[in-house]
Amino acid sequence: MRPTRHDLTPCPNGCGERILWTRTEHGERLAVDAQPSADGNQAVMKNGLGRWISRSLDGAGALPPSPYEHTFKPHFRKSGCAKLRPAQPELPGLLPTNVVRIGARRASARRRTRR
Ligand SMILES: [Zn+2]
Repeated sequence: MRPTRHDLTPCPNGCGERILWTRTEHGERLAVDAQPSADGNQAVMKNGLGRWISRSLDGAGALPPSPYEHTFKPHFRKSGCAKLRPAQPELPGLLPTNVVRIGARRASARRRTRR
């Protein structure tokens, strides 16, 4: 069963996507993308109480998805939620000359200590 728009809620991260909240077999809340995905790792179904249930397909003993389940991808991963994607790296040459780029300084310090 596929979720209808009434089942979906906006992502709490504010990425603009709509998500489906499910309960895992361990009773935890898991948000998945709104659309099923053939390579998703969560088998999702709506149970008799109208609740969305998900179970992971990653485990060694996990059964393949049943005909009444659709596979979804969890939303809160870097390729799913736009807000979790790494920000564009800063462009070189935009810092004033008196400002030290801390990341580069740390990297060079790490290189020095390794020798
Ligand atoms: Zn999101």
